[in-house]
Amino acid sequence: GATASDHLLDGLNPQQREAVEYRGKALLIVAGAGSGKTRVLTHRIASLIENREAWPSQILAITFTNKAAAEMRERVEDLLGGRTEGMWISTFHSACVRILRREAENVGFSKNFTIYDSSDSRVLLKRIIKRHDADMFGFTPANASARISKLKNELADADGYARNANMSDPNEVAFVEIFRDYQRELQRASAFDFDDLIAQTVYLFRAFPQVAALYQKKFRYVLVDEYQDTNHAQYSLIRELTREPEGDGFLPGTLEGASLTVVGDSDQSIYAFRGADIRNIVEFERDFTGAKVILLEQNYRSTQNILSAANAVISNNFDRKDKKLWTDIGDGDKIIGFTGYSGHDEAQFVADEIERLHRNGVAYGDVAVFYRTNAQTRALEEIFVRSALPYKIMGGTKFYERAEIKDAFAYLTAVMNPADELAVRRIINTPKRGLGPATITQLASFAENAETTLRESLREASTLGFGPKVTRAISDLSAVLDEAVALADAGRVSEVLTTLMQKSGLIDSLRMSRDPQDEARAENIDELVAVTKEFERNNPDGTLLDFLTEVSLVAAADDLDDASGTVSLMTLHTAKGLEYDSVFLTGIEEDLLPHRMSANEPGGPSEERRLFYVGITRARKRLFLSLAMTRAQYGETAVAMPSRYLQEIPAELIEWRQSPGSVNSRGGTQSRALNANRWSQTRGTDAAALPRAEKKEWPNKVTNSVRDNGDLELAAGDRIRHTDFGEGRVQNVTGEGTKRVAHVQFDNAGAKKLLIKIAPIEKL
Ligand code: ATP
Ligand code: MG
Repeated sequence: GATASDHLLDGLNPQQREAVEYRGKALLIVAGAGSGKTRVLTHRIASLIENREAWPSQILAITFTNKAAAEMRERVEDLLGGRTEGMWISTFHSACVRILRREAENVGFSKNFTIYDSSDSRVLLKRIIKRHDADMFGFTPANASARISKLKNELADADGYARNANMSDPNEVAFVEIFRDYQRELQRASAFDFDDLIAQTVYLFRAFPQVAALYQKKFRYVLVDEYQDTNHAQYSLIRELTREPEGDGFLPGTLEGASLTVVGDSDQSIYAFRGADIRNIVEFERDFTGAKVILLEQNYRSTQNILSAANAVISNNFDRKDKKLWTDIGDGDKIIGFTGYSGHDEAQFVADEIERLHRNGVAYGDVAVFYRTNAQTRALEEIFVRSALPYKIMGGTKFYERAEIKDAFAYLTAVMNPADELAVRRIINTPKRGLGPATITQLASFAENAETTLRESLREASTLGFGPKVTRAISDLSAVLDEAVALADAGRVSEVLTTLMQKSGLIDSLRMSRDPQDEARAENIDELVAVTKEFERNNPDGTLLDFLTEVSLVAAADDLDDASGTVSLMTLHTAKGLEYDSVFLTGIEEDLLPHRMSANEPGGPSEERRLFYVGITRARKRLFLSLAMTRAQYGETAVAMPSRYLQEIPAELIEWRQSPGSVNSRGGTQSRALNANRWSQTRGTDAAALPRAEKKEWPNKVTNSVRDNGDLELAAGDRIRHTDFGEGRVQNVTGEGTKRVAHVQFDNAGAKKLLIKIAPIEKL
């Protein structure tokens, strides 16, 4: 019976209103893509505040990415005209970091703990695996880290795992030792890896009910977006947070548990590989008794053609409840399909189409390009740079992954958390100051015997019998760190960073180097200084700790940058929850989508189909599906087959275009005039506006789309004709079977390498 918030109910359909107004303890909203789930969450938060049912500080809203959190905060602010201060709108990880910073000492960590990203974890695991000679059992940093991560997401620790493992199996014994050592070293370094952030918060709450009660009392309303992708640890965290707080002896436990709202769509569950569990949705009603369930069915995002394609694709997953989304937006444009000869050709198509949209008034910021694997960005970036198309890679952690940036961070980390041995090891001889592995080992064993840290051992250099040069180098480094610690207490982050970079000699070593790459590295460090200054502007009271926290969370998850005015490139996983007017889904091929690794996973192909569904449903008005006939991947160029999922889209919804560099396999070489003619028939008068002159018809049946030269025999010296490059002479043939490549010197087009099986060539 709200009145003050009536304007918050305008622009909502009856089911959405009911969801905003419901005031029971537990609410589950399940609905397909684009049906307004996130919008309902936003309006619900605003309505709680506007009706004075909650203070902003009593609200905890969990989103899947930092970007989504920033957007949600902005929307709530718009609806309320401010008044979001103190509200927690964040990812699971950010919320847990905030809690752990306050309570770290309860779990035996310093509040200045470091957050290890996956590459830090792997460096650590590499050392541990070596120590145990565990590579003999096939352990690598990557696979050990994946196994540990999975266990942590299930809240299993090393001891718990060992109890159930078959410890007569040496392989299992080795794994348990790795897991134990890894955890011990994290603890010693006062570091959490990403999975720990969640798991340790749950342990904290379970071990210290009075600590849990603080948060249970604080957060009266907990709201979770993208609930289908919560894993067991995240689910447990929500359970702990929404429990009835235990009485503290003075006040009996009179307070009820918090009100919980979750929204999700089991068709968009795409993180099973990280332990996400759709059952969390299915079993919500059982876990939260008396829960209200609301379904939403109208989609407000996409045109009917896009929605029909999405519905058709997802209906092939057998283990789902059928729900049909509808829209009254109208059919809209057909989906455009394109088959390129190569990944480059495909990228060129994407760039050309974006330019065309842009000429027709579409802003770059309304366009997104999605792909399954990060490797696919290379071709896209190359073409985009060449075409001077403004773009931004979202969720791209590239900058923070650079070695020199990691070095700079290691310096900052060593200042903030001297226990972090990984950081100290990284900077000890960076830049080179003559401290080799033997010296480091000696320092480390001194630290171990004296039960102190590697950082502290640097102070003892003069007592350890090193030569004068080595002693001097160690003491200098130690002095630089001390100076930075003093600065960090008083001064600004940018000063700490510049002092470290100058006095450690790192920046000079890059500037003075003859390696041209080092110049770019020095520029990257300057860029990092700019990042710290930006941080200071946005957070006048921000400390070094705040800065490192923000960066480690952003770098690992996604980007906070404003990307209006640029085309957004991202993986399908990153795309979840977002929407764009025009969407390009690239690389719709077997081995990419479904990804070849998914074949070995139970439920893998279904999960990949959901990923495709997520991609399709991001588009508002225009959807482009593209693929290539050859794909450079895993270091070689191979024949690519159209994705099985393409055939699940009704043919009448897609209009196929073909690459000018390829020909119809069954039709052989067709006359260009005929093709141009057919093309203009299918495209009507628009053909003249096409950036390419020679578009050809492409059959609707994508299964035909791969040319097959079968076992065309070619040898050095043969003359061939290529549909685009003209005549040439084969120089050499390499590779075998379907991967045979002809190295051809064309008379007019230069040297090319062609995959014989599918290249549009004939022997003369
Ligand atoms: P996803 O499953 O992809 O996360 P969602 O269910 O969270 O989607 P929203 O992002 O909340 O959907 O909404 C999709 C789009 O539809 C948004 O642009 C939103 O503003 C708009 N929308 C939602 N409900 C309505 C409505 N009742 N009237 C007009 N527009 C709406
Ligand atoms: Mg959403």
